[in-house]
Amino acid sequence: MATLRDIVYENVREGELYQELDDKRIRCFACGHCCPIPDGRPGVCQVRFNRGGKLYVPWGYVGGVQCDPIEKKPFFHAYPGALAYSFGMLGCDLHCAYCQNWVTSQALRDSAAVSPPLKVTPEGLVREALQYGAKVIVSTYNEPLITSEWAVAVFREAREAGLLTSFVSNGNGTPQVLEYLRSWVDLYKVDLKSFDDRRYRQLGGRLQPILDTIRSLYEMGFWLEIVTLLVPGFNDSDDELKRLTEFLASVSPDIPWHVTAFHKDYKMTDPENTSARDLMRAAEIGKSAGLRFIYAGNLPGQVGELENTYCHNCHELLIERYGYLITGYYLTSNGSCPACGTTIPGRWDPSFQGQITDHPLLPRPRRPLFSFLVPEGS
Ligand code: SF4
Repeated sequence: MATLRDIVYENVREGELYQELDDKRIRCFACGHCCPIPDGRPGVCQVRFNRGGKLYVPWGYVGGVQCDPIEKKPFFHAYPGALAYSFGMLGCDLHCAYCQNWVTSQALRDSAAVSPPLKVTPEGLVREALQYGAKVIVSTYNEPLITSEWAVAVFREAREAGLLTSFVSNGNGTPQVLEYLRSWVDLYKVDLKSFDDRRYRQLGGRLQPILDTIRSLYEMGFWLEIVTLLVPGFNDSDDELKRLTEFLASVSPDIPWHVTAFHKDYKMTDPENTSARDLMRAAEIGKSAGLRFIYAGNLPGQVGELENTYCHNCHELLIERYGYLITGYYLTSNGSCPACGTTIPGRWDPSFQGQITDHPLLPRPRRPLFSFLVPEGS
């Protein structure tokens, strides 16, 4: 019977983001690890591998699909209320102990993470996105950088059909992968998990490639929003938050920063859940650093004005929210403040288009890629 690894290794195509080295070794550029991979071995992410001196990458399946309000990704300055048809494959280049998507992201590392792949085509995904009324199609749930070739195949179809495209990513990129994605990705969310390199090494990465990616994404013109999941005792000291937000403000004070509440998940169950007071403290630090658009997430109704968008010039209320629900929309047709005329950074429709849902919806069930699946390690 097939194991998950068998299935993942059979559903591949030759990748584009690599170079050949000597002795059938290759170097992958899809993420900041830039793995040198000998023949017959996978990279750190486990889903890209070297066979005979060529890099093979995941193709033709998803680990899950879901229709989300765009506010859940979260994007607060891009097409408010839009439906974001979201798909993910399997695997990740990091291994965060508090991952909320561990069932897909850690599928080849953790035998408890069983998420049978579902067979799909780019055309089929786009067709379904349109049927549900999506405006944006999003690669998410696993780390999209490591499955960039597949995402671009889906996004080619999506663009033809008039959809916008997006990555929800840990930001562990390289110049090569960002150049590869530049023409295909409209909206990019980066999870900036800490401002301490030692913490990033605990999660399996390094801080510097993520900071470089954030700066490059902004300079290359992707619409960029940043999220920091505030984990008590892990990344929430005043000093760390000050350095983190000063860095973001140095890239641009117009980048929206979402500071969101942790709840015990996966292997991280020791820290207390984040309180509303902690989110508000972090927001104050970000404001002092010069950021103009700060949002507190995951605790609807408990964080005062921090769910809403206000004009950074005159403090007029522009978009009112409760959780993912838009309860008021007052921007002008050209994305300006109705009171003082200041342009609000973002990607705006000429008017609010309504909201299909304020909570995730599951599309119809699909046929698994293989019905008999033996969990890894059994
Ligand atoms: S995506 Fe990253 S972790 Fe995976 S093989 Fe490429 S460089 Fe290594």
